[in-house]
Amino acid sequence: MNCPECGKTVGKFSKFCKYCGVNLDDVRSMSYKDKLWKGRIDRKNYFAATLLVILALIVIDVTIIIVARSLKISENNLVLFAVNTVVNYVITFYYTISLDIRRAHDLGHSWKYVLLGFIPIYGIYINLRFLFDVGQDSPNKYGPKPSGKWMVRRSLGF
Ligand SMILES: [Zn+2]
Repeated sequence: MNCPECGKTVGKFSKFCKYCGVNLDDVRSMSYKDKLWKGRIDRKNYFAATLLVILALIVIDVTIIIVARSLKISENNLVLFAVNTVVNYVITFYYTISLDIRRAHDLGHSWKYVLLGFIPIYGIYINLRFLFDVGQDSPNKYGPKPSGKWMVRRSLGF
């Protein structure tokens, strides 16, 4: 198997990764939910994962339009519009909020910090912090400092 933290090949039954030191037992026992809502994420993985979510939204939108056309459903169909909107919102909220929460953790704040991002104008500042601020240099109560490696797939819980 590959270490989910650094991506290097590690023994199937190893307790720790010999390259980055992550506790593999902890990682194995982590649920999908834990991966999305706990721990920390650094700037570059936050940025890449957010881009990936946007890309996924575009792909989904295009797919819905292609399917609608092949079924001869008008693109102005209200049901189609509703389905598309709901799908977009669910994906956007689920993933971007989970990414925001882990970025807040990385900056040393609880999940509530993400709520500030919804305040008009001031929220822009919060979201810019998520994009550009360097995370805390040491382990904090939300987890160890992110390794600095690319881990976009894991950032999205896969
Ligand atoms: Zn590792």
